[in-house]
Order: sequence, then C-alpha cells, then structure tokens
Amino acid sequence: MSIEVNAITKTYGTQKALNNISFSVKPAEIVGFLGPNGAGKSTMMKILTTYINPTEGEAKVNGHKIDTNKKEVQSSVGYLPEHNPLYSELYVREYLKFNADVYNVSKQRIEEVIELTGLTPEAHKKIGQLSKGYRQRVGLANALLHNPDVLILDEPTTGLDPNQLVDVRNLITTIGQEKTVFLSTHIMQEVEAMCDRVIIINKGEIVADKYLNELRKGQEQTVIVEFDYRVEEAFLLKLPKVKLVKNTHGFIYEITFSSTDDMRSYVFDFAHDNELKILQLNQKNTSLESLFRELTN
Ligand code: ADP
Ligand code: MG
Repeated sequence: MSIEVNAITKTYGTQKALNNISFSVKPAEIVGFLGPNGAGKSTMMKILTTYINPTEGEAKVNGHKIDTNKKEVQSSVGYLPEHNPLYSELYVREYLKFNADVYNVSKQRIEEVIELTGLTPEAHKKIGQLSKGYRQRVGLANALLHNPDVLILDEPTTGLDPNQLVDVRNLITTIGQEKTVFLSTHIMQEVEAMCDRVIIINKGEIVADKYLNELRKGQEQTVIVEFDYRVEEAFLLKLPKVKLVKNTHGFIYEITFSSTDDMRSYVFDFAHDNELKILQLNQKNTSLESLFRELTN
C-alpha cells in the first residue's frame, strides 16, 4: 500500500479535526479527498507528510511509519501544501535548485521536472512574475524533484482560471500514470475529471469511499414514482432487483434497485400489471455531485 491510515484522530484543543479515520491507497491510484471547508483534509495531509503529529492512531506512507520513520516518509512523498508558499523574489530555476540542494537532487533532475511540468518557457522568470497556473506548476515541480512515489497535493487547482485549471488537471493526470496521487479538493467536478476513486470527508469523518467507475456504472439506482393512491411498501418489494422501498411523502416512493438497466420500464410494467396508476416516474440523480451534497449537508 502507498498510504495506510489506521484510526487517526487529531484534536486541536477541544476540537476534533479528525475522528478515528482509516483508509488506504494502492500504488498508482489517483484518489480525490473531497470535503467542504473545515472537513479536516489539510490536517490529514499534514499528518501524512509528517508536518504535524496525530493525537491518536498510526499511518504509513510507502511502508514507512509516520512517527518513527519521518525521514523515509519525507523522501517517499512529494507535497504541495495548501496556498503553495513560494519565494516570489527567486527565479524559477534558482528556487528549484535551492530545494534540490536540500534533497541532494542532481542538476539533470531539475531540468527533467522543468520539462515535465511544462515550465521550460518560464524557467528564467521570477516566481512573482508568473501567473497562478504557472506558480502551481512550480509547486508541482518542487514536489516532484526528489522523484517520490507518492504525491500529496492540497487543493492543487483552487484559484485557477478555467484554462489553467484544465492544464494543471492534465498535468496531474499525466503524473498520476506513474505515481500515487492523493489530492484534496472541495469541488466534485475536480474529482470526476482526475480521480479513480473518491474519499469523502465531512466534519472529520469519512462518509464515503468509492471508485468512480462503480459510481458511473450506476450499479445502484433509485427511481422516484408517484401513484394515485397508497401502495404497501411490501408490495413494491416484489419488483425485480429491488433493494429498498421508501415512502417519502404522500403517494411518492423512492425505490432503489441494484441493476444497470433503466428500471423505470420495469416499474411501468409492474404498475400496469397490477392496475396501479402512475402520476410521475423519474430516475433520481445519483451522480457524485448529489452524493456529495447528500453526505455533507
Ligand atoms: P480543510 O482542509 O478540510 O478545510 P482543515 O484540516 O484545515 O480542514 O481544518 C479542520 C478543522 O480543524 C477546522 O475546523 C479548522 O478550523 C481546525 N484547525 C485546523 N488547523 C488548526 C490549528 N492549527 N489550530 C486549531 N484548529 C485548527
Ligand atoms: Mg484545507
């Protein structure tokens, strides 16, 4: 496993920023860590990069324990902190060289990361002269310098304009072909654009952990149906592939199926066969966006 988190809790004073969190990330996965502001994303990332210690629990990055093997953890991870702090007075190449010296990274590797992150035309400029998109690339180049196996990126695309956003997303997707990427965001479209998997965190607790292809395949779907009079839930449970029936209000029912077929036609046939009248029949939106809203509201 690239990342293993086991029952981590972090308290700031009396506040629990993380409450007994566990998950793991496999090599070469791109995992989105999605949650509203204040959910605990940055706290988790600072723990995994050894910047702060958890109050309880343990974690490993690339097989190294964050408490006893900090050095090994740091050489396994590339970290782009939130707000990407950079020295605006330094030139891009000079800044990277400065950090490269800390890690004993070769001159050749500096040129490699400049090329990889598309910084070649800007590398002679001062960081302060760059657009936000290019500054994010400098942050990514910096995180990649020591060629770590795992990248931890805290809101890497926040504050970028739509064009920069697409460029930086593409760059992260490219990097993610070879490395494990754990990135945080509060935007669900971001996860849909870049990630294999999403872990949703809310108020310090994990509320969902799903692979996007499973979400997309819609292995589970919910149909909303309104009849013109009351129908027993038990009766609706006779529908094929039905998992759950809920009477939401009046004569409206939410029926959840485990199937990839469009189950509305089965509901229609069922109603017809049983002489029930349908007033409305819709598929409920089970996109990532609605999942996120449901889980974090
Ligand atoms: P996110 O990155 O998801 O927005 P954070 O991890 O930054 O969330 O914060 C989680 C919670 O912990 C927030 O309520 C925040 O105010 C609190 N918090 C974060 N850092 C500190 C700190 N150093 N001292 C006290 N509270 C903090
Ligand atoms: Mg944060």
